[in-house]
Amino acid sequence: MKPRLLFALAATLIATGLATAAEKIPGQSYFSTTRYLEYLAGDLPLVITVPHGGRLTPDALPKRKKGVMDMDTNTQELARALAGELHQRTGGHAHVVFSLLHRSRLDPNREIKEAAGGDPGAEQAWREFHAAIEGALKAAVARHGFAFLIDLHGHAHPIARLELGYNLGAGHLNQTDADFDTAGLIELSTVNDLHRTRGGSGATLLRGPRSLGALIVERGIRAVPSPAEPGPGPNPFFSGGHITRLHAGGPATPKVDGVQIECPRPGIRDTEENRARFARIVGEALLEFLREHYGFTPAPKR
Ligand SMILES: [Zn+2]
Repeated sequence: MKPRLLFALAATLIATGLATAAEKIPGQSYFSTTRYLEYLAGDLPLVITVPHGGRLTPDALPKRKKGVMDMDTNTQELARALAGELHQRTGGHAHVVFSLLHRSRLDPNREIKEAAGGDPGAEQAWREFHAAIEGALKAAVARHGFAFLIDLHGHAHPIARLELGYNLGAGHLNQTDADFDTAGLIELSTVNDLHRTRGGSGATLLRGPRSLGALIVERGIRAVPSPAEPGPGPNPFFSGGHITRLHAGGPATPKVDGVQIECPRPGIRDTEENRARFARIVGEALLEFLREHYGFTPAPKR
């Protein structure tokens, strides 16, 4: 082979290599070198994160000494069902970021110190998890002008309903719509950017007839906040955590909004059939929510 031809061939190979590194193929899984992290690449404006569905307990990482250790059983499977449903409905793919580590080794929904318990390997996994979210959100914003983050969890509270965490606790949500809006509480939420763009009542955006809660409830799954259950009342409620606050909350993330969805086990996470039902209902509700509030309609199915 002539040297010039060889050079051209080498240049082509290098260019191809770079292209695959930068542009990940939607619907394909990519793993970190340790395989503690899986990123399912996407092309929809939806980014789903699953911090507590992992099962790996590698010898290389010590058990955390402080914090919650219980995994959110079957949330990894729940997210895969939801991603599959979204693909069925749109022909596109949600971005999904999984921590494959058991929560006793890493809790990516905490700040790094509590998350990793000071272990350098776990800290590295924490950084990779959050960098993957950041990368997915950036790709979604570049393509669509916005991104919506769903942080998926499992709860064991006595009432079997979805808890939609917008970074607002019972003290905020148990207020009347008028008091909620007068106090400007939507500004503290993880849909603050959407509200700023759309204006109107923050309470209506959160729990009115076209809210995400309403769209889920009218399809058959109980959820709070929603028109029928505007707040959790005196019952336990997860208001959102580190992931939604860091990536979707406040003025630092102007194009990103999101919600933490906490799912009960009975009727939602327990069986494959129930996970498929959740995926159908929440998938349809999410797409309706994006159409209603962001004017997003997926490209026609290929
Ligand atoms: Zn969780």
